Amino acid sequence: MPRPLVATIDINALRTNLERAKKCAPRSKVWAVVKANAYGHGLERSIRGFADADGLGLIELDGAAKLRQLGWRKRILLLEGFFGPSDLITISDYQLDTVVHCAEQLVMLEKAKLTTKIDVYLKMNSGMNRLGFTPQHYRAAYERLRAIPAVRDISFVTHFANAEDPNNAGLSLGEQLRRFYAATEGLPGERCLSNSAADLMHPECAADWVRPGIMLYGGTPGDATAQDFGLLPAMTLNSEIIGIQHIVAGDAVGYGSAFVADKPMTIGVVACGYADGYPRQAPTGTPVVVDGVKTQLVGRVSMDMITVDLTSIATARVGSKVTLWGNGLPIDDVANAAGTVGYELMCAIAPRVQIVELN
Ligand SMILES: *Cc1c(COP(=O)(O)O)cnc(C)c1O
Repeated sequence: MPRPLVATIDINALRTNLERAKKCAPRSKVWAVVKANAYGHGLERSIRGFADADGLGLIELDGAAKLRQLGWRKRILLLEGFFGPSDLITISDYQLDTVVHCAEQLVMLEKAKLTTKIDVYLKMNSGMNRLGFTPQHYRAAYERLRAIPAVRDISFVTHFANAEDPNNAGLSLGEQLRRFYAATEGLPGERCLSNSAADLMHPECAADWVRPGIMLYGGTPGDATAQDFGLLPAMTLNSEIIGIQHIVAGDAVGYGSAFVADKPMTIGVVACGYADGYPRQAPTGTPVVVDGVKTQLVGRVSMDMITVDLTSIATARVGSKVTLWGNGLPIDDVANAAGTVGYELMCAIAPRVQIVELN
C-alpha cells in the first residue's frame, strides 16, 4: 500500500477558474501564470486545464521548454526574462516571449545574434520597486529595444503591489495605474497589468492582457474568500489517520512537548508533515477535517506527521480520511492559521506526495 497522503488535482476546477478570470476581463487576453510548476499543480496538467488561455506565463526557462515539448503551441511569456546570453538562444529556438526589466538584459539583447525575431514585454517599475525601468527611464529603454533588429513586437507590462488592498498607505493601485499610462502614452503596443487581485477586484485595469495566477488554482489573492470569488479549489490534500493515542490531563504531545492536555483526549496521528509541504509553523488550532468533521492540529508539525484532536470525533479510527486542505477545507484557512498565504502552501507540495488527477 502506498502512503495514504494524496494530492488530488482537479483539472476541471482549473478550467472553471480560468473561465472566471476571463469573465472578469471579457475583452482581454489571458496569460495563465504557471510558474513554480503551476503553483504546485504540474505543468502538464496546467496545459490541459488552461487550454483556452491565450498564453502561459512563467519564470523557469526549462519549464517553458517543457511546455513546448508537451505540445503547447500558443504563446509563452518569461515573466523575469533571461539570466544570461545563452538563454536568448533558447528563447529564440522555442519562440518564447520575454520580459526585459533591466539595462543588463537590454545589453544582452543588443549583443545577441538571433536568427528569429522575438516579442518583448518591457517592464515598468511603477512603484513596487521590484523589477522594471522607472517611468523616467522607460522611454529610453523602449527606444533601445526598438533599435534591435531581432525584436519584433514590444508590449508594456507592470505589476501591482497592493491590488488586493484598497487602503494601503504605501502605494495605491490608482497611482501605479496613473504612472504606467502616463509613461506609455502614445506608444504603440499591448498593455498588461492585472494579477488575480486586480482581475477580480479592478476590472478597470484589464487592458489588452491580464495575468492571473492564484485565482486559477482556487486560492484567494485577498481578504474575501475564494468561494466569495466563485473559485473552485484545484488541489485537495488528503491523508489518513495512521495512529491513535489516548492521553490524560498533563500528558504532552510531540516534539518539544509543545501541547499539554488539560483533560483526557484522543490524539490522531496523520501521515503528512513538513517534508510533504505542510507548513511547519502551523500552530495548535490550525483547522483539519477528519471523517468530514472539522477539528484542529495539536502540538508541533513533524517532518512526516501531524497530530490532531479526535476527542469529539467518535467515528475516528486508524484509516479515517483526513483533509489537510482543498475541498471541504479552504487552503486559505490553513494558510491564515499558519501565518502565510495559500500561494506558499500550493507551491510547497513536495515531490514525494502522490498526485491523483480528477478530470
Ligand atoms: C506570479 C505573477 C503573477 C500572478 O500573480 P497572482 O497573484 O498569483 O495572480 C502575475 N504577474 C507576475 C509578473 C507574476 O510574477
